[in-house]
Formats: sequence, structure tokens, C-alpha cells
Amino acid sequence: MVEDDAELARLLERVLTGEGHADTLAADGHRALHLGLTGSFDLLLVDRGLPAIEGLELIARLRGRGVRSPVLVLSARGSTQDRVEGLDAGAEDYLAKPFDIAELLARVRALLRRHQDEAMFLDVPGGRLLWDERVVERGGGTRVELSEREARLLRLLASRPRQVFTRQDLLTRVFDDAESDGAVDTYVHYLRRKLGRGVIGTVRGVGYRLGAL
Ligand code: CA
Repeated sequence: MVEDDAELARLLERVLTGEGHADTLAADGHRALHLGLTGSFDLLLVDRGLPAIEGLELIARLRGRGVRSPVLVLSARGSTQDRVEGLDAGAEDYLAKPFDIAELLARVRALLRRHQDEAMFLDVPGGRLLWDERVVERGGGTRVELSEREARLLRLLASRPRQVFTRQDLLTRVFDDAESDGAVDTYVHYLRRKLGRGVIGTVRGVGYRLGAL
């Protein structure tokens, strides 16, 4: 949730928590950009009038960096033109303030549902990774089974196809127990052996990303 109105943010947090959602709050555009690029979120609720980076600019930057989480804009700017701008910037939905909490929650549910359907698989070079099964399906009906860690690593890379991840990022987010960053290299090696060298690219001195460079 990106909202600089502390009182509204508190209210929304209470409501979302009551529905069983966990949320992370950013009160300005810079913080939101940082969290959006480093975290993984099922849904982004974005205000437009924000300190540091304006809401639509924030959405465009996140989309430009490959973040594909659905975005619901919550804004006092509610004219047709405003909504068109919001949707064109990359938002899936737009709700004008003041809004009814029941309607907000219904839209949140709808976006999460739709996103879950789309998230059944992720495209990877030469095939697609099935979300629930730890399997990559390739052309001709070939299925390659992955270990839990291989699947987690590939899932993270494939969820941000254009983003370069540092070893430290990957270590923190894929291998939650304390391990040396050699673990990342090892699992990249396993994935390349199973799926071909082109599945993960090495960005020299930085880290890894999905696909050959
Ligand atoms: Ca605001």
C-alpha cells in the first residue's frame, strides 16, 4: 500500500488485516519504488498524490522494470480523464476517493482472483514453469521436474523477467536459512544443466537474470 495520508493508511490497514491480508505500507514514492522492486506483492494499492514520486510515475517505473503485480489506484482525482491516465500508466483498476470500503474490498478480491488465475504458470526460456507443480513444460510435451529450491529460484527470476538480481538478493529471498552465496551459483548451475544454459543469464559483477543476455 502506497499512501501518504497516515490516517487513511491506518484505516485501510485495519480493514485489510480484518480480511486476512498482510500489507506493507510505503508513505512516499521512493520507498514504494524500492519495496516494489525488491519485494514480491500480490497486489499494489497506489495513491496518486505522493511525495517524491507521483503515483502514476511510480506505476510506470515499476512496469518498466518488469513488475507485473496488479495495481489498484486509489485517488481523489476521479474524472474520466484521470481514470484513463491511471489505466494507461499500467494500473488494472481505479477507484476514486472517497470510496466505499465494501467496494474496495470487492475490487481487491476480484484483482487477486484474476491474478491467481494468470499466475498458474510463468514463461521461461524454452517453456513455462507451472506454479504449483515445480515442473517446467517444454515444447513437445516434455516435462522437467525441479527441486523445491530450483523452482523457487526460477520462480523469482521469472516473476521479474527483466530485472537483474544480485546474489545477495537471491540468497535472502530464495534460501532463507544462512548459507554462503555459493549456494546461489550452485542452483543456477543445476537449473542450467536441466533446462539449458540460456535459461539464466550471468550479469558480470552484478548477478543473474532470466534468459540469455
Ligand atoms: Ca496523497
